[in-house]
Amino acid sequence: MAAHVHVEVGNAASELDPIFSDAIKRLDRAAQYAEIEPEALERLKTHKSILQVSIPVRMDDGSLRIFTGYRARHNDTLGPTKGGIRYHPNVSISEVKALSFWMTCKCACVGLPYGGGKGGIIVDVKELSNAELERLSRGYIRQIADLIGPDLDIPAPDMYTNARIMAWMLDEYNTIKRGSYPAVITGKPLGLGGSLGRDDATGRGGYYCLIDLAKKRQWKPSEIKVAIQGYGNAAQAIARLLYRDGYKIVAISDSASGIHNENGLDIMQAEQIKNKTGRVAACLESIKCEPITNADLLELNVDVLVPAAMENMITIENAARIRASVVVELANGPTTTDADEILNRNGVFMLPDILANAGGVTVSYFEWVQNRACYYWSLDEVHDRLQTIMVREFNSIYDLSKEKKIDMRTAAYAHAIRRIGRAIESMGTVKYFAK
Ligand code: GLU
Repeated sequence: MAAHVHVEVGNAASELDPIFSDAIKRLDRAAQYAEIEPEALERLKTHKSILQVSIPVRMDDGSLRIFTGYRARHNDTLGPTKGGIRYHPNVSISEVKALSFWMTCKCACVGLPYGGGKGGIIVDVKELSNAELERLSRGYIRQIADLIGPDLDIPAPDMYTNARIMAWMLDEYNTIKRGSYPAVITGKPLGLGGSLGRDDATGRGGYYCLIDLAKKRQWKPSEIKVAIQGYGNAAQAIARLLYRDGYKIVAISDSASGIHNENGLDIMQAEQIKNKTGRVAACLESIKCEPITNADLLELNVDVLVPAAMENMITIENAARIRASVVVELANGPTTTDADEILNRNGVFMLPDILANAGGVTVSYFEWVQNRACYYWSLDEVHDRLQTIMVREFNSIYDLSKEKKIDMRTAAYAHAIRRIGRAIESMGTVKYFAK
């Protein structure tokens, strides 16, 4: 068995931690509106534990490759830690630290009984065969099995992981623990205890927030132009739902390139082509559209911009050129903190990631509840409960932002850390112990 490496977690953040350092800047800004004690705030700047593992994998050609993986648990005050596992060449400690911190904030933001966790493996899945991918996924679970569990830490899919990978992981965990523990992981296939409605939940959650905003602004869908950066699971779901309602989706893209049509794209056809060929650019052959770069897509003259790809897409470099009046962050961390300031100054209304993409983890929570109760819900029940939570939390944040005259992101963080702060404070802080 390869050795576990526990990474130093004492220091909150340093210049070695670019993504996490930037992420926690938002805490301080929000804290003044959350009435949270400094001690509770300090707790949120450090991780509970971070594990680094090496995963030896026998490749199809007989050679051995050793992959590096991580699992970070940020904070478990409100419940077991929860969050996805990402397979990507850019996975790093700093990234899983930031992503697990965002999960803590996200779960608290929508009122789930969870803390935040996140894992990842440094790998380009496009280079692996299916059998290699299975061995890698099982190997990762063998390394982290002692740290996960239905009441401890509950993984789920993230970028480049999916329901089948969750199935392998569950099977490996069950084998190690000699039992059946479906609630150890969410985003599973339906036949193995997955929930109806988990597949499109991230995009759908963002959609429910956006259409509530549309009601407030009395939008007519046919007059609203939407550009979507990224065309994975979450992006496809929101595109489908908005298209069905009559919104004009004028641009979509993947990491390679994008397509654009001022009068709106045929989204049903685009989705089929992307999923068949793996390339958005393949749409150029059969759909009315012209090519567009990712950078130009972000700066299009649209009403709604949906960054649904990676972190750090809207930065100090391009923020001043964003022309959308509403940004829906389906990706985690697509906007940097200094870009936030520019967007706020320009009056851009933000549906921030910890709210806008919380639909995924919310239906993961439903899945976990159903697994534990051994009682399964209909698709309509899942949709209704998801909509109830998203609309309720969106409106609380919206009202807080109006009441305190703050931007939506600051309000979302204040709303989230209030919940965590109260829980931490109920165990006593210096005010209680120093008496
Ligand atoms: N990876 C997703 C996220 O970033 C889902 C996490 C989960 O379902 O636990 O929110």
